[in-house]
Amino acid sequence: MSETPSPRLREVWLLAATFLIAVAGLIYELIAATVSSYLLGDSVRQFSIVIGVFLSSMGLGAWLSRYIEEAIRGFSWAQIALGVVGGFMAPALFFAYAWLGEVAMPLYAMLIAVGVLSGMEIPLIARVLKSIGVPDFRFENVLTVDYVGALAASLAFPLLIIPHLGLMSASLVFGCLNLLVAGLSLYLFREFASRTQWAAWAVALLCSVAALIGAERLVSVAETQLFEDDVILSETTPYQQITVTQFRGRTRLFLDYSIQFDSMDEYRYHEMLVHPALGLAPRVANILILGGGDGMATREVLRHAGVEHVTLVDLDPRVTELFRERPELAALNKGAFSDPRVTIINRDGWQFIENSDETFDVIILDLPDPKNIALSKLYSRQFYTLVAERLSATGLIVTQAGSPLFARQAFWSIAHTFTETRNPLAPGEGLSILPYHVYVPSFGDWGFVMASFAPLAPRTPDLPEDLSYLTAQTWQKAQVFGTDTQEIAAEVNDIQSHALVGYYLDGWDRWFR
Ligand code: SAM
Repeated sequence: MSETPSPRLREVWLLAATFLIAVAGLIYELIAATVSSYLLGDSVRQFSIVIGVFLSSMGLGAWLSRYIEEAIRGFSWAQIALGVVGGFMAPALFFAYAWLGEVAMPLYAMLIAVGVLSGMEIPLIARVLKSIGVPDFRFENVLTVDYVGALAASLAFPLLIIPHLGLMSASLVFGCLNLLVAGLSLYLFREFASRTQWAAWAVALLCSVAALIGAERLVSVAETQLFEDDVILSETTPYQQITVTQFRGRTRLFLDYSIQFDSMDEYRYHEMLVHPALGLAPRVANILILGGGDGMATREVLRHAGVEHVTLVDLDPRVTELFRERPELAALNKGAFSDPRVTIINRDGWQFIENSDETFDVIILDLPDPKNIALSKLYSRQFYTLVAERLSATGLIVTQAGSPLFARQAFWSIAHTFTETRNPLAPGEGLSILPYHVYVPSFGDWGFVMASFAPLAPRTPDLPEDLSYLTAQTWQKAQVFGTDTQEIAAEVNDIQSHALVGYYLDGWDRWFR
C-alpha cells in the first residue's frame, strides 16, 4: 500500500470531517423532530422531546467513547453505523408507520442510536488528533468547527434540504455523507483499517446508494401504504407536505398527512362554512378568507350575487398555485382562483390581519386544525381580536372549529374564545356566537363557530339556489347539539397557554389511538 499520509493532511481531514458530521448529526435530529411532529402531532412537544433525547444520548455516547481502545477505528465504525441508522431513519419511520401503525418506539430507538454514535464523534476525533501528534492541537478548534457545522445545517434544513430533497432523500443523502467520511477516514488511516471495516463500509454504501437511486419509488410505496389511494401529487414545500390522492374519481388533499378535503363530501363542509355567514350578513361585497388554499370556500362565496371582491390569504404559494393551475384540481373549485373578483395573497394569516387596514363584510377562517401551536395561534383570543378589528360593524366571522364529538372541549374552547374576545362595539363585552355542526362522512361530526358584534337574529340565511346539502331545515338541525356534543367547560385559547392544542390532541387520541 502507498506511504502513510502526513499528520498535517490527516489533521485537515479530521477538522473537515468534524464539520461534515456536525451537519449530518443535526440534520438527523431535525428529520426525527419533523417526522414526529407530522406523525405524532404537536410540533413544540415533539421538537423539545426529540432535542432532549438526542442531546442526552450524545452525552451517553461521549461517556461510552472511553471504552473504545483504538480511536480512529472506533470513529470509522461510528460513521458506518451512523450512515446506516441515520440514513435509513426517515424511510424506516414512514414504513413503520404505514405497516405497523407505530412510530414512537422506532423513532426513539433510532434517535438514541444516532445520538449515542454522534456523541462519540468529537471525543474520538480529539483523541485521534492528539495521537497523530498535531503540534498545536486545540480542543476549542474542534468544537468551533462542530458548532459552525450545526449552524449551517439548521439554516439549510428548512431553506434548501426539505424543499429540494424531501425527508426521505435527505435522510439517505446525509447517510451517504457519513459513509463518505467513513471511507475517507479508512483510507487516510489505512494502517488501522481492517478488512471487515472495508467490507461493512462497501455493503452499507451500496445499500444506501441503491436506496437513494430508488428514493422516489420508496416515497411512492410508503405513500401508497400511508394513503391507501393512488398518490397523484406529493410535494414538500417550506411550509408543509402536500399530498393529493385519487381513487375512482375521488380526490383527497392531505397537508402534513392530515386530510383537508375529500371531493366526495367536501360540499357539506364548504356549504356549511360559507353560506350561513354570507346568508345572514346584511352586506357581502367584500369578503376575506384566511387559509382555504384549495379554493373550495372561494367557489361557494362566488355563488352569492352581492360579492364584489374576495381576498384569499394562504400561507403556501404552492397550494394556491396547484389549485389555480392544475386542471383536475382547478375543476374541483370550478376555476374560482381565476375569477376576476378574487385576489390571492400568499402570506401568514396573522401577519396579514395585523397589517391590513381594510374592512370586510364577512371573514372566513378555513385553516388546518389546531394540532400545534403554530396553528393554535390562529384560533386564539389575540388573533380573534385582530380579526374583529377588520370586520365591518354588521359583519360576521366564521371559522371551522373541528369535531364537537371527537374533540368536544377543543370545539367549545374555540366558541368560548370568541365570547371572551373584546367587542369593540360593546366595551366590556365579548363577541356573540352561533355554534353549529354537520356530519361530513370523511371527517365525522364537524363544527363551525360564527361570531358577530351583535347577537344574530334567528332567521334562515338567504341561500343560493341548488345547494347540495344546506336548506332551511338542515340549518335548523345544525344548530342543535346532542347530549354528547353540547357545551362543556373549556378554557379560552390564549397565545400564552394554548389550551386548545391539549384539548384537540387529547380528544382525537381518545378516539383514534
Ligand atoms: N378544510 C380544512 C380542514 O379540514 O382543516 C382547511 C383547508 S385549507 C386547505 C387550509 C389552508 O390553510 C391550507 O391551504 C394552508 O396552506 C393554509 N394555512 C396554514 N397555515 C396558515 C397560516 N398561518 N396563514 C394562512 N394560511 C395558512
